[in-house]
Amino acid sequence: MTQISSKLAVARQEISGRIAIAARAAGRAPEAITLIAVSKQQSDDRIADMISTGQLVFGENRVQEAQAHWQDSQDQMPGLKLHLIGPLQTNKALDAVTLFDVIETLDRPKLAAALTRAMDKAGRQIECFVQVNTGEEPQKAGLVPQEVDGFIADVRETYGIEPKGLMCIPPVGEEPAMHFALLRKIARRNGIAKLSMGMSHDFETAIAFGATHVRVGTALFGPRG
Ligand SMILES: *Cc1c(COP(=O)(O)O)cnc(C)c1O
Repeated sequence: MTQISSKLAVARQEISGRIAIAARAAGRAPEAITLIAVSKQQSDDRIADMISTGQLVFGENRVQEAQAHWQDSQDQMPGLKLHLIGPLQTNKALDAVTLFDVIETLDRPKLAAALTRAMDKAGRQIECFVQVNTGEEPQKAGLVPQEVDGFIADVRETYGIEPKGLMCIPPVGEEPAMHFALLRKIARRNGIAKLSMGMSHDFETAIAFGATHVRVGTALFGPRG
């Protein structure tokens, strides 16, 4: 291993250890939590080094950038799982369905329709999570909490999509715990099992509130760009 990759191996081991401690503190099994390594804006070398540590689950927030990073490695990496964690335009739905294994940012009927069509066309069913704008921030994607139940019912009935999870990004500078608690509450009353919540600075809190997926970028890779 190069020096960088051993550094990344140490970082990954450290984060995995912290995930396990937070899980046990919450009375949960560490294996119940999936670490998504957020590779957006990281170099191909760093991504290759992270792969060499055994990491198989990655998150990207832009379709085009993700294609550049991952299109060629997909066939050579059995077990690779890619999560789209950024907003998706309907005209990129087919590209997204082809590349990703999970789309975490379903947040409007038009996108649900486009994803259904894209999955039919690609002959590939992928998991969808619904993004919730728990802080009701105007600039942020996702449904405001009071619209989520109706939307989930609609995508189930109208589009034949069964949402497998919910995702949120709490407002910067606010205590994340109440946002995580709210996401869990919405998931429970809708019979949804997976919760994608928690980033570099708050993943341990998210695990205490039931996160099944944590999305960690800088704490694993170091600064972006
Ligand atoms: C960038 C990003 C992350 C990772 O953020 P870090 O603070 O670097 O861990 C997680 N989730 C989403 C949606 C992101 O865009």
